[in-house]
Order: sequence, then structure tokens, then C-alpha cells
Amino acid sequence: IKKIGVLTSGGDSSGMNAAIRSVVRTCAFHGLECVGIYRGYEGLMEGDFINLDARSVKGIINKGGTILKSARSEEFKTKEGRQKAYDKLIESNVDGLVVIGGDGSFTGAMIFNQEFDFPVMGIPGTIDNDIFGTTHTLGFDTALNTVVEAIDKIRDTASSHNRLFFIEVMGRDVGHIALNAGVAGGAEEILIPEEDLGLERLEESLRRSRKSGKSSSIVIVAEGDKIGKNIFELKEYVDENMSGYDVRVSVLGHMQRGGSPSCFDRVLASRMGVKAVESILEGKTNFMVGLLNNKMELTPLENAIKGKSKINLELLRVSDIMTT
Ligand code: ATP
Repeated sequence: IKKIGVLTSGGDSSGMNAAIRSVVRTCAFHGLECVGIYRGYEGLMEGDFINLDARSVKGIINKGGTILKSARSEEFKTKEGRQKAYDKLIESNVDGLVVIGGDGSFTGAMIFNQEFDFPVMGIPGTIDNDIFGTTHTLGFDTALNTVVEAIDKIRDTASSHNRLFFIEVMGRDVGHIALNAGVAGGAEEILIPEEDLGLERLEESLRRSRKSGKSSSIVIVAEGDKIGKNIFELKEYVDENMSGYDVRVSVLGHMQRGGSPSCFDRVLASRMGVKAVESILEGKTNFMVGLLNNKMELTPLENAIKGKSKINLELLRVSDIMTT
């Protein structure tokens, strides 16, 4: 292995730049060349590469987003598209690839590896934390901190006006952000995709909280919550069925993706970059680098994609107890 390529693909997340920096510097440390590939698999097929030396990644560890840009690519899902990508890599003498992205990006990397026997290594970068084989994906911790800060701010206005707020956070299929931010922000209830709490329980919990003299209530709702109502419908429901509540809604949206990465994400990204490059050097391929029991571990891409990242049920119980 003499030259490694690195790309970011799928939805961006904080910590991707820190991971790029780590990959580039680990390459430099081991005397390897490194190329950055723009716009994920799109740039890979076009040969949109840039040589990156250790100094060219200065000043990015604290930046959100990704300097290499990210993209989604339909063409890479075709055999012809992947052949183009392979030809570009060979043309540029790249002989290993680090893919920073989510499960879709890993699926592409795995198929590419199987077709061309090309060494690939995945680094999980997505705010949803929905990847098996790591307790944390890059950007999750930063997103949590952003959400908690937003909850705190909304709480100020909620308690000044005795209001009930439904706050929507990201998470179509998994409730990691909702659950963790909900516990940290002292939410009354947390609605997640994994469990249907039911409207009765929500009503009961809101009534109980009011009886106990609380001046504000915050309910965190993941995008894909299992009750099956979005926050606007939830507001409507409370307006129609429960008297005396002054209900407001807030969708946090894309602010959750951006921002300067937290210390945790910077450290994690640095560790993952080192592990990814050194694993390729050891001849390993088709794995994802992850954090398990505070150690860097490899999980076959196939398992990372197929496995389920389960929510922490203990946390669900903690949340219940805290709202007593
Ligand atoms: P996130 O879910 O956080 O946005 P992701 O990596 O899962 O990240 P996707 O949009 O699912 O995001 O995938 C990114 C890209 O990976 C796709 O645009 C496509 O180019 C490639 N990809 C996904 N699935 C496949 C597949 N089956 N075969 C080849 N390439 C794929």
C-alpha cells in the first residue's frame, strides 16, 4: 500500500473533518501518500481528487461539515459507475480507500470491494448513531450537545409562559438522539421509533406533571416516533382533547447536523482515522472501525450494515424514573 484515498459520503456530520485530518496525518506518519476525493462516490467516478499532505489539513479539526463535500450518487449503485470509479483509482495509483459515511456508503464500499478486490475501510459518520459495531458514530455527540442546548433555551421560554412544548429531533428509524437528549434536557416524555408509548400514557404523564406543579413541560419527539403522529398532529391532539394547555411546537431540523465538533467527536475521529489507515496497512479490508468498550475495534462491513444498533433500554427506564 502506497497511496490511500479518503472520501465522505451520505449525510454530513460533525467530526468528518477531524477524521479526514487523522487519515491524512496517519498516512504521512507512515510515509504513505494520501488523496482526498471530493463529493463522495460522485467525485470518485469523476476522478475529482486532491493530494493532501499533513499540512493541508491544518485548521479543520474544529470545523463542522466536510471540506471534501459529500454527495449521494445513483450512478455508483450501477456496475458501470463502480467500474469508472475503479479505473480512476488505478489511474491515480490509489490502492486503498477510507469511506467516511453511514450504512448506505458502507454498502457501496462493500460491493466495490467484492467486485474489484479493492481494500476498503469504513469510518462511521452520521449523527443518528444507527450503526452496529460502534457505541458512537461521528457527529452523534456533537448533535446531542446541540439538541440539549436548544432544549435548555426552549425551557426558559416554556417555563416563563407555562407552556407545553413538543420538540422534534432527528431520528427516522432510531431514537438515540431523542432518548439521550431527552434525559439530559429533563423531558417529560420521549417519543421514539422503537417503542409506542401510546397517547394515553402521554396524556397521563402531562396531567401528572401539571398536578405536581411543574411550570413547563417538554416532550421530545423523534421524527419517526411510533405513536405515528408528528409534532403538529400531537399539538392538535392536545388542543382538542386536553383543556388548559398552551402548546407550542419546535422542529430543530438541520441545525442538529452542523457546528464545531465536540471534544468527544474530535478525539473519536482522530482515533478512528489512525485505526482505519493502520488496519489497511496490516492487510485488513472490508471492515468498519468502531468504538467498543473504549477500544478501537473492527467489525465486518456486512455486519455493520445488517446489524441493528439498539437503544439503551436502561436509559428508557432512567427517563421514566426521572419524570416521577
Ligand atoms: P446517512 O444515512 O447518514 O445519510 P448513508 O451513507 O447511509 O449516510 P446513503 O444516501 O444511504 O447515505 O448512501 C450514500 C451513498 O452510498 C449513495 O448515494 C450511493 O452512492 C452509495 N450506496 C448506497 N447504497 C448502495 C448500493 N446498494 N450499492 C452501491 N452504492 C450504494
